[in-house]
Formats: sequence, structure tokens, C-alpha cells
Amino acid sequence: MLNSDYRNILYPCNLGITLSADFSESLTENLTRFINGAFDSFFYNIYVNKWSLNQHFIVNLGREENIRKNEQFNETVTLYPTNIFYASLKRIQNLHRYSTFRLGITNLPLYSSTKKNLIFLYGEAHINRKCAVVSTYNLRDIQMNLQNEPPIVKERIIKESIHELGHLILGNNHCINSDCVMNYSNNLQKVDEKSIFPCNSCDEKLKEIREIYNF
Ligand SMILES: [Zn+2]
Ligand SMILES: [Zn+2]
Repeated sequence: MLNSDYRNILYPCNLGITLSADFSESLTENLTRFINGAFDSFFYNIYVNKWSLNQHFIVNLGREENIRKNEQFNETVTLYPTNIFYASLKRIQNLHRYSTFRLGITNLPLYSSTKKNLIFLYGEAHINRKCAVVSTYNLRDIQMNLQNEPPIVKERIIKESIHELGHLILGNNHCINSDCVMNYSNNLQKVDEKSIFPCNSCDEKLKEIREIYNF
């Protein structure tokens, strides 16, 4: 059974992206351009809104388990569980029903609400809820405003966004090809080494979906 069946997905479909407020125009443009390149003709339209996810986190979640030391920046930060983002994205999704999938990109640091040892995640997808979240927090070498982000960081954000959308379309599995965007990356070196696009074998799976849905 295709994983699109039980989720009532019809392809092509629309994608909604909710961005953290500090995204530049050029990053937004490149993000949609490369998503369309990776998932050719899967999306009729990509709608972008900048309703900041962060506004849902006014209440400080500063429970002890959420406060961790970040080795990369040598600082102690509050981490946010992914399920709160899914709930927030679902709320936005209910206001914008024309989008089948929704991707949220935040600058807040994340931990997985299902596997609590997975901290400072680059991203996570919730297949059943048809939404995914990417955090720019650990994709940066130093903390700075995204308007001035170097190209390598923008590329990482786009790669991890395509990776999580790939899960929403293809399912939970990771690709074994180390240069494929669907390869699992647990450090920046791996992110930088892989391609921004799916490999031939992942492309074949996308092609199968296109054939089934006739597009
Ligand atoms: Zn993954
Ligand atoms: Zn692949």
C-alpha cells in the first residue's frame, strides 16, 4: 500500500511553508525553487507565510529536561519538543486547507518528542499529520541573523527542508546513498557532503508515484 493512500493524499498537491520571521527573500525564493526541482511537478503551488511559529511559544517551557548545553556554541539553551510544532503547524493548516503538506522552519532548537535523546535536531517529519519541522539553530556555525547568512548555511536549510518533505512523500526510511538528500545526517559535515537532490534510486520511487497518479 502506498503511504499516500491512508492519508487521503492526491498528487499533485499544494505545499504550505511557514517560516520563522528572519528569512530573507532570496532564501525563500531558493527554497521554493529547489523544492520544485527535487520534487518535480509534485506541487501545484507552494504557499509561503511568515506567521512566525515562535509566537506560540510565549510561555516559557523551561522545565529542567528541556534545558541542555549546546557543545557547538558552548551555551545553555531551552530546547523545544517537536510535538508542539506539529500542533502549531496543524493549527495553521486548518486555516489554510488548500495545502496538503505543511513545512515549518524555525530558528528555535528542537528535541524529538518521541525520542527524547534526539536533541538539537535539524528536522523531523510527522508522516500521519502531513507536516514537518526544520530547525535552523544547529545548521549555523555561529548564531546570526538569517538575513546575513552565508550561502553554505542557506544550502543546509534547503537540504534539510527537502529531506523532511522527502519523508512526507516517501515515508520514514533513509536512503543508504551518502550523497543523496534522503541520507541521514547527524552532523554538519554529512549535511554539507550530500546533494540537495534525491539520488537516482529515490527518483525512481518518485517516478512510481507520478505514474500511479498520472502526472
Ligand atoms: Zn530523515
Ligand atoms: Zn536516495
